[in-house]
Amino acid sequence: MRTYQSWGRYPRASHTGVLPIVWRTEPPPLDRLDRSILPFGLGRSYGDSCLNDGGLLLDTKALDRLIAFDAGNGLLRCEAGVTLAAILALTVPKGWFLPVVPGTRWVSVGGAIANDIHGKNHHRAGTFGAHVVRLELLRSSGDRLVCSPEENAELFHATVGGLGLTGLILWAEIRLNRIPGAGIALERIRFGSLDEFFTLTESDQQYEYTVAWVDCLARGRRLGRGIFMRGDHAGWPGAPPSPLVEARLRVPCDAPAGLINRATMRAFNELYYRRQVRGRTRSLVPYTPFFFPLDTVADWSRLYGAAGFLQYQCVVPEQPGSAGMREIFERMTRSGEAPSLAVLKRFGDVPSPGLLSFPRPGLTLAVDFAFRGQRTLALLEDLDRVVRDAGGAVYPAKDARMSPESFRRFFPQWERFAVHVDPKFSSSFWRRVQRS
Ligand SMILES: Cc1cc2nc3c(=O)[nH]c(=O)nc-3n(C[C@H](O)[C@H](O)[C@H](O)COP(=O)(O)OP(=O)(O)OC[C@H]3O[C@@H](n4cnc5c(N)ncnc54)[C@H](O)[C@@H]3O)c2cc1C
Repeated sequence: MRTYQSWGRYPRASHTGVLPIVWRTEPPPLDRLDRSILPFGLGRSYGDSCLNDGGLLLDTKALDRLIAFDAGNGLLRCEAGVTLAAILALTVPKGWFLPVVPGTRWVSVGGAIANDIHGKNHHRAGTFGAHVVRLELLRSSGDRLVCSPEENAELFHATVGGLGLTGLILWAEIRLNRIPGAGIALERIRFGSLDEFFTLTESDQQYEYTVAWVDCLARGRRLGRGIFMRGDHAGWPGAPPSPLVEARLRVPCDAPAGLINRATMRAFNELYYRRQVRGRTRSLVPYTPFFFPLDTVADWSRLYGAAGFLQYQCVVPEQPGSAGMREIFERMTRSGEAPSLAVLKRFGDVPSPGLLSFPRPGLTLAVDFAFRGQRTLALLEDLDRVVRDAGGAVYPAKDARMSPESFRRFFPQWERFAVHVDPKFSSSFWRRVQRS
């Protein structure tokens, strides 16, 4: 049975109903529903932007048709519930790749647009929404509007990154990129400090994909040490790996509370950092483990225990000496919390198309924290203050607790966006950040 939670499993929501959407028969009479509604993709958002506590969800799973693919020019048209995995299964054997993929392939096209997701190639490609040619939006009034940067443009820019609040995306047209094959020519470089990371990212533009794993518990001279990965598409001998294969490993139940703590994370980080014996390695790997390493274990979020976890992702504009990002690392290491699974990357300057899009030029850090109540919330509020002062932002797709004041500072176009929110649509996130 499908569960309707977010990936971090915090907060929990009680939905009063779920309406499966099969639009090709008859668009559902959304205006006749007596509660607020919100589209739901695959629930891979971490916080509460995909939840609608006390309201209804529109389950888009059945919108799973690949409508048309032109293997001559790479233009794909599909329904909004189609997964990125299904698209890659179709297009990679034909030599085409999605312009942007996140760290999991179990994301729907509707979800990818509504959060205007980014990937390891943000410095070159910008966000997912930058490659959406057009989409169709169903409003609760029953209107079906085709939106693109040229047609209903303002509604298009509100819907890309619009957190599912402007209506239900029915289908989208996306421009794909040519690739030489299903491989990635990968280079892994161990770096000993944040300064070394900054030096490595200076050559980002020479590679399609760059990202770093960082040890958020290392201190002093080793602050921000990690493994830098960069790669380009390459040929792959033999058949391309199937992205539709489910993970063989699964976490069957909630781990005991406290399994992920500072001691276990310190030990893991040390092992992971030292596992790469040579400072620099080169290899050819299939694209699936490169882009989606976490997909190899299903339900890995259960490792954080029944209380769930929060992911904190922020972006901080470039500053002299990268002061803001350094401050964030200092505060995390000094706190009693156990930051785990941290990823650091430099965003590029390709403009994001959405009024509420998160990516903007600067350094972005994504890091997980087991939820330990007020202590965890206090640390993240403290980090918000650093991000606010630096003129950055926190990613709504990963958020479950930012304050209304922070939201307005992070997303100065929110009032222009709010005009386009469908009167029937709402979410737990939206009600939280709209509180006065
Ligand atoms: C392991 C992992 C790695 C990730 N890595 C990244 C990453 O690298 N970069 C990144 O940007 N994100 C990343 N994410 C987050 C994920 O990509 C986004 O949260 C994505 O939006 C989830 O898509 P979904 O289909 O699960 O949508 P959901 O989480 O179910 O919904 C997300 C939003 O989309 C809206 N929505 C869904 N379908 C529609 C529709 N048809 N019409 C209108 N609105 C709709 C919902 O209302 C909601 O607001 C990662 C998540 C995980 C679990």
